[in-house]
Amino acid sequence: MDLGIRGKRALVCASSKGLGRGCAEALAAAGVDLVLNARGAEALEATAEAIRAEYGVSVTAVAADITDEAGRARVLEAAGAVDVLITNAGGPPPGLWSDWTRDDFIKALDANMLTPIALMTALLPGMIERGWGRVVNITSQSVKAPIPQLGLSNAARTGLTGYVAGTARQVAGHGVTINNLLPGSHDTDRAVALEKGVAKAQDVSLEEARKIRCKSIPSGRYGTITEFGNTCAFLCSEHAGFIVGQNILLDGGQTSATI
Ligand code: NAP
Repeated sequence: MDLGIRGKRALVCASSKGLGRGCAEALAAAGVDLVLNARGAEALEATAEAIRAEYGVSVTAVAADITDEAGRARVLEAAGAVDVLITNAGGPPPGLWSDWTRDDFIKALDANMLTPIALMTALLPGMIERGWGRVVNITSQSVKAPIPQLGLSNAARTGLTGYVAGTARQVAGHGVTINNLLPGSHDTDRAVALEKGVAKAQDVSLEEARKIRCKSIPSGRYGTITEFGNTCAFLCSEHAGFIVGQNILLDGGQTSATI
């Protein structure tokens, strides 16, 4: 399917690896020029080069911490006028409700709520002026059903979800859509980090921990970054202009809910 976005320009945050990279590759496959970002310059440049070589689109790489104001300013300056924004950053660490201090919450809110809001505040006006835009926020299945050990993530991402619910409806009349993609368990470094937590808590091997996690997923496996990226690219396509303020779960059926 032609997504109808060839020649558009996208900023994909936190995209040298994992879900962000999946989104970047799928957008590049649709002919979208990219601005990519991550903190580590080496992996970022390698990803940028691989995408340039495979898809022939223009790729600008900006090594910066997207959750830091100065880093974000550098990314936004390099990005300029973009048609598509994918917000993403590392997720908060796991733990227990009794461990978390005010500072832990501030850090999580900064990374997973206030950073995407700041990016939208900066880029929505240009999209509105040009009469076309797409924003996809990478959040988490924890928005639909809490993950007990990820309370910091549950809290920050639910705040972002509330913001998007209202804002998406304020900008939709200008041809700009905002939606959230909610990953369940996907095969990325983050998934391995969470497996290590399960392995330690249940005193089992990493392989066993993965089996335990996969058992709780009706599809019986983790999702791939390609599946995730292609769904993101569809949400950014011409065809998705009537999808507004939605929270799309990609979790292999793990969240047991009727709607
Ligand atoms: P990942 O494989 O660890 O990749 C994270 C990517 O983001 C890397 O490119 C990393 O590069 C970059 N990054 C991290 N923090 C950054 C920052 N502050 N500024 C700029 N770039 C940053 O993680 P992932 O699995 O793709 O997860 C992406 C998001 O989805 C996370 O918020 C995660 O919590 C959420 N999520 C993931 C899953 C899953 O199953 N994978 C499930 C639910 C939610 P550098 O380290 O070099 O910066």
